[in-house]
Amino acid sequence: MDRRYWDEELETAPWSEVEAWQAGHLVHFLDGLRARSDFHKDRVDSPARPAGSPRSLELLAELPFTTKDELRRSQEENSPGEPFGRHQAVPLSEIVQVVSSSGTTGHPLHYALTAADLELWRQTIAAVFFTAGIRPDDVVAHLVGLPGVAGGLPYADGFRTIGATLAWLGGFPTERILRSFPRLQVNAVLSTASFGTYLTDHCEDLIGVPAASLGITKFLGGGEPGFGQPEIREKVRSGWGLDHVREVMGLADVLSAVWGECDDERGMHFCAQRGVAIELIDPATGAQRRWREGATGEVVYTTFAREATPMLRYRSSDHVVVTGVDCRCGRTSPRIRCIGRTDDMLIYKGMNVFPTAIRDVALSAVGDAVEPYVRIWKDRPDQVRFDDAIPVDIEAAEGLETDRYAGLARRIEAELRGRLQVRAVVSVVAPGTLPRGAYKTPLVHVRANGETGKEER
Ligand SMILES: [Zn+2]
Repeated sequence: MDRRYWDEELETAPWSEVEAWQAGHLVHFLDGLRARSDFHKDRVDSPARPAGSPRSLELLAELPFTTKDELRRSQEENSPGEPFGRHQAVPLSEIVQVVSSSGTTGHPLHYALTAADLELWRQTIAAVFFTAGIRPDDVVAHLVGLPGVAGGLPYADGFRTIGATLAWLGGFPTERILRSFPRLQVNAVLSTASFGTYLTDHCEDLIGVPAASLGITKFLGGGEPGFGQPEIREKVRSGWGLDHVREVMGLADVLSAVWGECDDERGMHFCAQRGVAIELIDPATGAQRRWREGATGEVVYTTFAREATPMLRYRSSDHVVVTGVDCRCGRTSPRIRCIGRTDDMLIYKGMNVFPTAIRDVALSAVGDAVEPYVRIWKDRPDQVRFDDAIPVDIEAAEGLETDRYAGLARRIEAELRGRLQVRAVVSVVAPGTLPRGAYKTPLVHVRANGETGKEER
């Protein structure tokens, strides 16, 4: 198969035409939403929508946002036949699948798919992985071990829809996963960024042979920012002896993969044109921003084709930078990197700082002396503000003499001060000290009583 695109028509049409096509669908979606969901009814009724056929997504600016807290409350008010909450928009008999959020920020939320939703998810996730270079002759090791989360069964469906061979190894012990690669002739891997980095570091310890000898030629990471960071990407590239490292991103609330990185490897293209409209907004004021290279903001999603649990202007909390709006690959959708989640954001003396930015500065300054594992300590779960130096642990690289740890810590502190205007108190800790998750690995931890920040957990 030598096709270049999964959905050529919408992937290559001028972006303004794609938005106009979506705006047309949006009008019908909004009309239907009133009738189908109590949750959306009050919200969509209030402002008058423009008459005639709108030509752009600016019409969305008139409508209210939806936040995760509102969805959570809606889900808590569930009634018989409506386990998904007041925003459930079809009867249970039409629902064929439940998808759960990972619950990294609070209690998990559950979303629903009808058969039509499922088909749209399959096609979109296939488009994302196709954009990220997966083809029918690939044998893909799918390393997410939880079928019920966005990156579980839905990703498995995406690989099978392309026609690739799905080797669902997630959930098995790590050694078994690695030993299965050559046995099954796996050539492509999908994992979270943190688990991918962990495998890169520990393959030889676990099974006695280096990662580069296992025959992997494509490595895809998602679920959390990480593979967008050049030092982490380079580590994966050199560790596995491959060139092809790509990021994908999505969210359970909307569609589990909507962004995929093309051959150009300079950010992830939006790939969900058939079912999801996107806006970039100023997270402080909520004002729409234009998709142009260098712009930053929060991504807001509207699932104009979703039947079971539709989302209207859903605030993702994902803070992104636009890396381009045209591309050598021929795709016309915006490309992004995720900078961090706005609900992870810390405030140091009135300035916003993302935990990922702290990690990225440390890695780009002294990446050969440290591992990409960082732990930022909070005193309380709801702590956002830091008036004193932010406590940060970072792991030393294997083989670094311990008498160099203190000097390295001071150097990272100076880089953080210089580049982010943030004062941190950095502890360099021994390799292998910081926790790694088999799914997502949070960068921020809450100090339990008496914890010094230097203990192993
Ligand atoms: Zn591209």
